[in-house]
Amino acid sequence: MHDFFLTDEDRAFRAELRDFMARELAPRVDAIERNQDFSTQTAVARALGEAGYLKLMFTDLYSGPLSAPGLTHAVIVSEEAAYLNYAFETTIATALSCAYPIHRHARPALRERYLTPILEGRAVGSICMTEPGVGSDSAGMTTRIRFDDSTREWVIDGFKRYISNAGEADVYIVWGITDPDLPPQKGMSAVLVPAGTPGLSVPRLYDFMGRRGSVVGEVTLDQVRVPEENLLGEVNQGFAIMLGAFNFERVILGGSGLGVARAAFDLAKDHAQSRVSFGQKLGQKQLIWDMVAQMSWRIDAAELLTHRAAKMYDAGLGGKDLMREASQAKLVASETAVFCSDRAVQILGGDGVTRQYGRVEQLYRDARALPIVGGTSEMCKYLIAAREMPAIRPNL
Ligand SMILES: Cc1cc2nc3c(=O)[nH]c(=O)nc-3n(C[C@H](O)[C@H](O)[C@H](O)COP(=O)(O)OP(=O)(O)OC[C@H]3O[C@@H](n4cnc5c(N)ncnc54)[C@H](O)[C@@H]3O)c2cc1C
Repeated sequence: MHDFFLTDEDRAFRAELRDFMARELAPRVDAIERNQDFSTQTAVARALGEAGYLKLMFTDLYSGPLSAPGLTHAVIVSEEAAYLNYAFETTIATALSCAYPIHRHARPALRERYLTPILEGRAVGSICMTEPGVGSDSAGMTTRIRFDDSTREWVIDGFKRYISNAGEADVYIVWGITDPDLPPQKGMSAVLVPAGTPGLSVPRLYDFMGRRGSVVGEVTLDQVRVPEENLLGEVNQGFAIMLGAFNFERVILGGSGLGVARAAFDLAKDHAQSRVSFGQKLGQKQLIWDMVAQMSWRIDAAELLTHRAAKMYDAGLGGKDLMREASQAKLVASETAVFCSDRAVQILGGDGVTRQYGRVEQLYRDARALPIVGGTSEMCKYLIAAREMPAIRPNL
Protein backbone atom coordinates (compact mmCIF):
# COMPACT_ATOMS: atom_id res chain seq x y z
CA MET A 1 0.00 0.00 0.00
CA HIS A 2 1.31 3.42 -0.96
CA ASP A 3 1.25 6.15 1.71
CA PHE A 4 0.79 3.71 4.61
CA PHE A 5 1.65 6.35 7.23
CA LEU A 6 -0.97 8.82 6.00
CA THR A 7 -4.43 9.24 7.54
CA ASP A 8 -7.61 9.63 5.49
CA GLU A 9 -7.43 13.36 6.13
CA ASP A 10 -3.83 13.46 4.85
CA ARG A 11 -4.90 11.58 1.72
CA ALA A 12 -7.80 13.94 1.12
CA PHE A 13 -5.33 16.82 1.50
CA ARG A 14 -3.07 15.26 -1.13
CA ALA A 15 -6.01 14.97 -3.56
CA GLU A 16 -6.87 18.63 -2.96
CA LEU A 17 -3.23 19.62 -3.52
CA ARG A 18 -3.05 17.65 -6.77
CA ASP A 19 -6.05 19.58 -8.09
CA PHE A 20 -4.45 22.85 -6.98
CA MET A 21 -1.12 22.04 -8.67
CA ALA A 22 -2.86 20.87 -11.84
CA ARG A 23 -4.66 24.20 -11.97
CA GLU A 24 -1.92 26.60 -10.86
CA LEU A 25 1.44 24.98 -11.62
CA ALA A 26 0.98 22.54 -14.53
CA PRO A 27 0.06 25.23 -17.10
CA ARG A 28 3.18 27.20 -16.15
CA VAL A 29 5.90 24.54 -16.06
CA ASP A 30 7.05 25.22 -19.63
CA ALA A 31 7.48 28.91 -18.90
CA ILE A 32 9.57 28.02 -15.85
CA GLU A 33 11.78 25.45 -17.62
CA ARG A 34 12.14 27.00 -21.07
CA ASN A 35 11.96 30.74 -20.35
CA GLN A 36 13.46 30.54 -16.86
CA ASP A 37 10.85 33.06 -15.87
CA PHE A 38 11.01 33.69 -12.11
CA SER A 39 7.88 35.86 -12.14
CA THR A 40 5.92 32.76 -13.18
CA GLN A 41 7.19 31.06 -10.04
CA THR A 42 6.28 33.96 -7.81
CA ALA A 43 2.74 33.91 -9.26
CA VAL A 44 2.30 30.25 -8.26
CA ALA A 45 3.92 30.85 -4.85
CA ARG A 46 1.45 33.64 -4.28
CA ALA A 47 -1.49 31.37 -5.10
CA LEU A 48 -0.07 28.77 -2.69
CA GLY A 49 0.33 31.41 0.00
CA GLU A 50 -3.18 32.79 -0.51
CA ALA A 51 -4.58 29.26 -0.15
CA GLY A 52 -2.75 28.94 3.20
CA TYR A 53 -0.50 26.10 2.04
CA LEU A 54 2.74 27.80 3.16
CA LYS A 55 1.53 27.97 6.78
CA LEU A 56 1.01 24.24 7.27
CA MET A 57 4.12 23.87 9.41
CA PHE A 58 3.42 26.97 11.45
CA THR A 59 0.44 25.67 13.34
CA ASP A 60 -0.07 28.85 15.42
CA LEU A 61 -0.59 30.77 12.16
CA TYR A 62 -2.58 28.16 10.23
CA SER A 63 -6.33 28.67 10.04
CA GLY A 64 -7.42 26.16 7.38
CA PRO A 65 -9.59 23.06 7.62
CA LEU A 66 -6.94 20.46 8.58
CA SER A 67 -7.41 19.17 12.13
CA ALA A 68 -3.69 18.62 12.71
CA PRO A 69 -1.59 20.45 10.10
CA GLY A 70 2.17 19.97 10.12
CA LEU A 71 5.31 18.88 8.35
CA THR A 72 3.49 15.87 6.89
CA HIS A 73 1.36 18.26 4.86
CA ALA A 74 4.29 20.52 3.93
CA VAL A 75 6.03 17.38 2.61
CA ILE A 76 2.96 16.54 0.53
CA VAL A 77 3.07 20.08 -0.94
CA SER A 78 6.76 19.57 -1.81
CA GLU A 79 6.14 16.17 -3.33
CA GLU A 80 3.23 17.28 -5.50
CA ALA A 81 5.10 20.42 -6.64
CA ALA A 82 8.31 18.50 -7.44
CA TYR A 83 6.27 15.91 -9.34
CA LEU A 84 5.43 18.69 -11.82
CA ASN A 85 8.49 20.95 -11.56
CA TYR A 86 11.43 20.62 -9.20
CA ALA A 87 12.67 24.18 -9.83
CA PHE A 88 9.41 25.58 -8.52
CA GLU A 89 9.48 23.26 -5.54
CA THR A 90 12.90 24.62 -4.56
CA THR A 91 11.36 28.08 -4.36
CA ILE A 92 8.80 26.88 -1.81
CA ALA A 93 11.42 24.89 0.09
CA THR A 94 13.67 27.97 0.30
CA ALA A 95 10.71 30.08 1.47
CA LEU A 96 10.05 27.59 4.29
CA SER A 97 13.78 27.36 5.14
CA CYS A 98 13.86 31.12 5.56
CA ALA A 99 10.51 31.31 7.37
CA TYR A 100 11.41 28.64 9.93
CA PRO A 101 14.23 30.52 11.76
CA ILE A 102 12.28 33.80 11.51
CA HIS A 103 9.25 32.14 13.10
CA ARG A 104 11.32 30.67 15.92
CA HIS A 105 13.95 33.29 16.59
CA ALA A 106 13.07 36.76 15.20
CA ARG A 107 12.03 39.64 17.46
CA PRO A 108 8.21 40.10 17.30
CA ALA A 109 8.31 43.25 15.13
CA LEU A 110 10.59 41.60 12.57
CA ARG A 111 8.57 38.41 12.64
CA GLU A 112 5.52 40.43 11.69
CA ARG A 113 7.40 42.39 9.01
CA TYR A 114 9.06 39.46 7.23
CA LEU A 115 7.34 36.21 8.14
CA THR A 116 3.76 37.02 7.17
CA PRO A 117 4.61 38.22 3.62
CA ILE A 118 6.72 35.09 2.97
CA LEU A 119 4.00 32.75 4.22
CA GLU A 120 1.37 34.58 2.19
CA GLY A 121 3.52 34.16 -0.92
CA ARG A 122 3.95 37.93 -1.28
CA ALA A 123 7.67 37.96 -0.47
CA VAL A 124 10.68 35.80 -1.24
CA GLY A 125 13.23 34.72 1.35
CA SER A 126 16.80 33.47 1.10
CA ILE A 127 19.29 31.77 3.42
CA CYS A 128 23.01 32.50 3.17
CA MET A 129 25.35 29.94 4.72
CA THR A 130 27.60 28.56 1.96
CA GLU A 131 30.85 30.33 1.02
CA PRO A 132 33.63 29.56 -1.50
CA GLY A 133 35.70 27.90 1.21
CA VAL A 134 32.88 26.11 3.05
CA GLY A 135 29.86 24.07 2.05
CA SER A 136 29.42 20.88 4.04
CA ASP A 137 31.84 22.18 6.65
CA SER A 138 29.70 25.22 7.41
CA ALA A 139 31.47 25.87 10.72
CA GLY A 140 34.51 27.05 8.73
CA MET A 141 32.78 30.16 7.39
CA THR A 142 34.73 33.44 7.24
CA THR A 143 31.89 35.99 7.00
CA ARG A 144 32.23 38.35 9.96
CA ILE A 145 29.40 40.00 11.88
CA ARG A 146 30.51 42.59 14.42
CA PHE A 147 28.51 44.87 16.66
CA ASP A 148 29.04 48.63 16.35
CA ASP A 149 28.39 49.99 19.87
CA SER A 150 28.22 53.57 18.67
CA THR A 151 25.31 53.03 16.26
CA ARG A 152 23.84 49.85 17.86
CA GLU A 153 24.07 48.08 14.50
CA TRP A 154 25.41 44.76 13.24
CA VAL A 155 28.05 45.19 10.51
CA ILE A 156 28.47 42.28 8.08
CA ASP A 157 31.39 41.56 5.76
CA GLY A 158 31.61 38.45 3.68
CA PHE A 159 30.89 36.58 0.49
CA LYS A 160 28.30 33.83 0.07
CA ARG A 161 27.81 31.56 -2.91
CA TYR A 162 25.21 29.06 -4.14
CA ILE A 163 22.47 31.17 -2.61
CA SER A 164 18.96 30.30 -3.78
CA ASN A 165 16.80 33.31 -4.65
CA ALA A 166 19.85 35.64 -4.72
CA GLY A 167 18.74 38.96 -6.17
CA GLU A 168 15.05 37.94 -6.03
CA ALA A 169 14.69 37.76 -2.24
CA ASP A 170 13.05 40.44 -0.13
CA VAL A 171 14.96 39.30 2.94
CA TYR A 172 18.16 37.29 3.52
CA ILE A 173 19.21 35.41 6.62
CA VAL A 174 23.01 35.73 6.78
CA TRP A 175 25.20 33.58 9.02
CA GLY A 176 28.63 34.80 10.12
CA ILE A 177 31.21 34.68 12.91
CA THR A 178 30.56 37.09 15.78
CA ASP A 179 33.28 35.88 18.13
CA PRO A 180 36.40 34.59 16.35
CA ASP A 181 38.02 33.71 19.68
CA LEU A 182 35.45 30.95 20.29
CA PRO A 183 35.10 27.70 18.32
CA PRO A 184 32.87 28.56 15.30
CA GLN A 185 29.99 26.46 16.66
CA LYS A 186 29.91 28.77 19.69
CA GLY A 187 30.84 32.06 18.03
CA MET A 188 28.43 32.21 15.08
CA SER A 189 25.29 34.36 14.73
CA ALA A 190 22.51 34.90 12.20
CA VAL A 191 21.00 38.25 11.19
CA LEU A 192 18.17 39.37 8.94
CA VAL A 193 19.22 41.59 6.04
CA PRO A 194 16.44 43.23 3.98
CA ALA A 195 17.00 43.44 0.21
CA GLY A 196 18.24 46.86 -0.80
CA THR A 197 20.43 47.32 2.28
CA PRO A 198 23.53 49.25 1.12
CA GLY A 199 26.52 46.94 0.69
CA LEU A 200 24.49 43.85 -0.25
CA SER A 201 24.93 42.93 -3.89
CA VAL A 202 24.55 39.95 -6.21
CA PRO A 203 27.59 39.91 -8.50
CA ARG A 204 26.72 36.72 -10.39
CA LEU A 205 23.98 34.18 -11.01
CA TYR A 206 24.84 30.57 -11.81
CA ASP A 207 23.84 28.57 -14.85
CA PHE A 208 22.84 25.06 -13.72
CA MET A 209 22.42 21.82 -15.68
CA GLY A 210 19.00 21.32 -14.07
CA ARG A 211 16.40 23.07 -11.90
CA ARG A 212 16.12 25.54 -14.80
CA GLY A 213 14.06 28.51 -13.73
CA SER A 214 15.30 28.52 -10.16
CA VAL A 215 17.62 31.40 -9.31
CA VAL A 216 20.89 30.71 -7.47
CA GLY A 217 23.80 33.12 -7.20
CA GLU A 218 26.47 34.88 -5.18
CA VAL A 219 25.86 37.46 -2.47
CA THR A 220 28.49 40.01 -1.46
CA LEU A 221 28.21 41.72 1.92
CA ASP A 222 30.41 44.79 2.13
CA GLN A 223 30.04 46.76 5.36
CA VAL A 224 26.34 45.89 5.43
CA ARG A 225 24.65 47.49 8.45
CA VAL A 226 21.42 46.30 10.06
CA PRO A 227 19.79 47.35 13.36
CA GLU A 228 20.51 45.50 16.61
CA GLU A 229 17.01 43.97 16.57
CA ASN A 230 17.77 42.09 13.31
CA LEU A 231 19.74 39.46 15.23
CA LEU A 232 17.99 36.08 15.29
CA GLY A 233 17.88 34.60 18.79
CA GLU A 234 20.86 35.50 20.95
CA VAL A 235 24.38 36.43 19.94
CA ASN A 236 26.57 33.37 19.19
CA GLN A 237 23.48 31.14 18.84
CA GLY A 238 23.72 30.99 15.03
CA PHE A 239 25.09 27.47 14.73
CA ALA A 240 22.31 26.05 16.91
CA ILE A 241 19.75 27.97 14.80
CA MET A 242 21.28 26.44 11.67
CA LEU A 243 21.21 22.90 13.07
CA GLY A 244 17.65 23.39 14.28
CA ALA A 245 16.50 24.05 10.73
CA PHE A 246 18.32 21.09 9.17
CA ASN A 247 15.94 18.36 10.35
CA PHE A 248 12.85 19.90 8.87
CA GLU A 249 14.71 20.90 5.66
CA ARG A 250 15.86 17.32 5.17
CA VAL A 251 12.37 15.92 5.59
CA ILE A 252 11.06 18.48 3.07
CA LEU A 253 13.86 17.37 0.72
CA GLY A 254 12.55 13.83 1.17
CA GLY A 255 9.32 15.12 -0.39
CA SER A 256 11.26 16.80 -3.22
CA GLY A 257 13.12 13.59 -4.05
CA LEU A 258 9.93 11.57 -3.93
CA GLY A 259 8.16 13.93 -6.34
CA VAL A 260 10.99 13.77 -8.88
CA ALA A 261 11.36 9.98 -8.51
CA ARG A 262 7.66 9.36 -8.92
CA ALA A 263 7.41 11.58 -12.02
CA ALA A 264 10.25 9.63 -13.65
CA PHE A 265 8.73 6.28 -12.63
CA ASP A 266 5.32 7.15 -14.08
CA LEU A 267 6.84 8.16 -17.42
CA ALA A 268 8.98 5.00 -17.49
CA LYS A 269 5.98 2.75 -16.73
CA ASP A 270 3.86 4.43 -19.42
CA HIS A 271 6.60 3.86 -21.97
CA ALA A 272 7.26 0.26 -20.89
CA GLN A 273 3.56 -0.55 -21.30
CA SER A 274 3.13 1.08 -24.71
CA ARG A 275 6.40 0.73 -26.65
CA VAL A 276 6.66 -2.45 -28.73
CA SER A 277 10.07 -4.02 -29.28
CA PHE A 278 10.82 -7.43 -30.78
CA GLY A 279 7.08 -8.05 -31.13
CA GLN A 280 6.20 -7.46 -27.46
CA LYS A 281 5.63 -4.62 -25.06
CA LEU A 282 8.92 -3.44 -23.59
CA GLY A 283 7.47 -4.02 -20.13
CA GLN A 284 7.21 -7.75 -20.86
CA LYS A 285 11.00 -8.10 -20.99
CA GLN A 286 12.71 -9.36 -17.85
CA LEU A 287 15.50 -6.80 -18.00
CA ILE A 288 12.85 -4.06 -17.97
CA TRP A 289 10.91 -5.70 -15.08
CA ASP A 290 14.09 -5.54 -13.07
CA MET A 291 14.29 -1.77 -13.54
CA VAL A 292 10.59 -1.30 -12.78
CA ALA A 293 10.81 -3.45 -9.63
CA GLN A 294 13.89 -1.58 -8.43
CA MET A 295 12.27 1.80 -8.96
CA SER A 296 9.13 0.59 -7.18
CA TRP A 297 10.81 -0.60 -3.96
CA ARG A 298 13.17 2.34 -3.80
CA ILE A 299 10.27 4.80 -4.07
CA ASP A 300 8.32 2.97 -1.38
CA ALA A 301 11.37 2.92 0.90
CA ALA A 302 11.88 6.67 0.34
CA GLU A 303 8.21 7.34 0.99
CA LEU A 304 8.07 5.28 4.19
CA LEU A 305 11.21 6.95 5.55
CA THR A 306 10.03 10.45 4.60
CA HIS A 307 6.54 10.05 6.01
CA ARG A 308 7.91 8.46 9.18
CA ALA A 309 10.27 11.39 9.74
CA ALA A 310 7.47 13.91 9.06
CA LYS A 311 5.10 12.14 11.45
CA MET A 312 7.83 12.03 14.11
CA TYR A 313 8.36 15.77 13.74
CA ASP A 314 4.61 16.36 13.98
CA ALA A 315 4.57 14.24 17.15
CA GLY A 316 7.03 16.70 18.73
CA LEU A 317 10.35 14.95 18.13
CA GLY A 318 13.31 17.05 17.01
CA GLY A 319 17.02 17.70 17.47
CA LYS A 320 19.08 14.57 17.95
CA ASP A 321 15.90 12.49 18.27
CA LEU A 322 15.10 13.16 14.61
CA MET A 323 18.56 13.53 13.11
CA ARG A 324 18.95 9.90 11.99
CA GLU A 325 15.43 9.63 10.58
CA ALA A 326 15.50 13.01 8.78
CA SER A 327 18.91 12.18 7.28
CA GLN A 328 17.72 8.74 6.15
CA ALA A 329 14.68 10.31 4.48
CA LYS A 330 16.78 12.91 2.63
CA LEU A 331 19.49 10.42 1.66
CA VAL A 332 17.20 7.70 0.35
CA ALA A 333 14.75 10.03 -1.43
CA SER A 334 17.56 12.00 -3.14
CA GLU A 335 19.39 8.90 -4.31
CA THR A 336 16.07 7.37 -5.41
CA ALA A 337 15.34 10.44 -7.55
CA VAL A 338 18.74 10.08 -9.22
CA PHE A 339 18.26 6.32 -9.71
CA CYS A 340 14.73 6.58 -11.08
CA SER A 341 15.46 9.44 -13.47
CA ASP A 342 18.48 7.52 -14.77
CA ARG A 343 16.50 4.28 -15.26
CA ALA A 344 13.64 6.21 -16.87
CA VAL A 345 16.08 7.61 -19.45
CA GLN A 346 17.27 4.06 -20.14
CA ILE A 347 13.75 2.69 -20.58
CA LEU A 348 12.81 5.52 -22.95
CA GLY A 349 15.97 5.03 -25.05
CA GLY A 350 16.49 7.90 -27.50
CA ASP A 351 13.29 9.55 -26.31
CA GLY A 352 14.85 9.69 -22.86
CA VAL A 353 17.64 12.01 -23.93
CA THR A 354 15.66 14.17 -26.37
CA ARG A 355 13.87 17.37 -25.40
CA GLN A 356 11.22 16.88 -28.09
CA TYR A 357 9.94 13.66 -26.50
CA GLY A 358 8.91 14.87 -23.09
CA ARG A 359 10.30 15.51 -19.70
CA VAL A 360 12.53 12.58 -18.82
CA GLU A 361 15.77 14.32 -19.82
CA GLN A 362 14.72 17.27 -17.64
CA LEU A 363 14.07 15.02 -14.63
CA TYR A 364 17.53 13.46 -15.13
CA ARG A 365 19.16 16.91 -15.06
CA ASP A 366 16.99 18.15 -12.18
CA ALA A 367 17.51 15.12 -9.94
CA ARG A 368 21.29 15.43 -9.86
CA ALA A 369 21.25 18.40 -7.50
CA LEU A 370 19.28 16.52 -4.84
CA PRO A 371 22.16 14.54 -3.29
CA ILE A 372 24.13 17.81 -3.02
CA VAL A 373 21.72 20.42 -1.66
CA GLY A 374 20.62 20.66 1.96
CA GLY A 375 23.37 18.33 3.23
CA THR A 376 25.10 16.01 0.76
CA SER A 377 24.52 12.25 0.78
CA GLU A 378 27.91 11.84 2.46
CA MET A 379 26.95 14.26 5.26
CA CYS A 380 23.63 12.42 5.73
CA LYS A 381 25.52 9.13 6.05
CA TYR A 382 27.80 10.74 8.63
CA LEU A 383 24.81 11.87 10.69
CA ILE A 384 23.17 8.44 10.49
CA ALA A 385 26.36 6.65 11.51
CA ALA A 386 26.97 9.15 14.32
CA ARG A 387 23.57 8.30 15.82
CA GLU A 388 24.11 4.57 15.36
CA MET A 389 27.49 4.69 17.17
CA PRO A 390 27.03 7.35 19.84
CA ALA A 391 30.08 6.22 21.80
CA ILE A 392 32.48 7.19 19.01
CA ARG A 393 32.56 10.07 16.56
CA PRO A 394 32.97 9.10 12.88
CA ASN A 395 35.98 10.96 11.49
CA LEU A 396 34.93 13.68 9.06
C1 LIG B 1 21.28 24.34 -6.61
C2 LIG B 1 21.88 24.68 -5.28
C3 LIG B 1 21.21 25.51 -4.40
C4 LIG B 1 21.80 25.86 -3.17
N1 LIG B 1 21.15 26.74 -2.34
C5 LIG B 1 21.78 27.16 -1.21
C6 LIG B 1 21.21 28.18 -0.39
O1 LIG B 1 20.11 28.69 -0.66
N2 LIG B 1 21.91 28.62 0.71
C7 LIG B 1 23.12 28.09 1.05
O2 LIG B 1 23.70 28.52 2.05
N3 LIG B 1 23.68 27.10 0.30
C8 LIG B 1 23.06 26.63 -0.83
N4 LIG B 1 23.64 25.67 -1.60
C9 LIG B 1 24.92 25.11 -1.22
C10 LIG B 1 24.84 23.67 -0.74
O3 LIG B 1 24.29 23.61 0.55
C11 LIG B 1 26.26 23.10 -0.83
O4 LIG B 1 26.58 22.97 -2.20
C12 LIG B 1 26.41 21.79 -0.12
O5 LIG B 1 26.29 21.95 1.27
C13 LIG B 1 27.75 21.14 -0.42
O6 LIG B 1 28.80 22.04 -0.23
P1 LIG B 1 29.92 22.24 -1.37
O7 LIG B 1 29.23 22.42 -2.68
O8 LIG B 1 30.84 23.29 -0.92
O9 LIG B 1 30.67 20.87 -1.45
P2 LIG B 1 31.79 20.34 -0.43
O10 LIG B 1 31.39 20.53 0.97
O11 LIG B 1 33.11 20.89 -0.85
O12 LIG B 1 31.77 18.79 -0.75
C14 LIG B 1 32.21 18.27 -2.02
C15 LIG B 1 32.02 16.75 -1.98
O13 LIG B 1 32.86 16.21 -0.93
C16 LIG B 1 32.06 15.48 0.00
N5 LIG B 1 32.64 15.67 1.33
C17 LIG B 1 32.88 16.82 1.98
N6 LIG B 1 33.42 16.57 3.20
C18 LIG B 1 33.52 15.21 3.30
C19 LIG B 1 33.98 14.31 4.31
N7 LIG B 1 34.44 14.75 5.49
N8 LIG B 1 33.92 12.99 4.07
C20 LIG B 1 33.42 12.53 2.91
N9 LIG B 1 32.98 13.31 1.91
C21 LIG B 1 33.02 14.64 2.11
C22 LIG B 1 30.66 16.07 -0.12
O14 LIG B 1 29.68 15.16 0.36
C23 LIG B 1 30.59 16.34 -1.61
O15 LIG B 1 30.27 15.14 -2.27
C24 LIG B 1 23.05 25.30 -2.82
C25 LIG B 1 23.72 24.45 -3.71
C26 LIG B 1 23.15 24.14 -4.92
C27 LIG B 1 23.91 23.21 -5.86
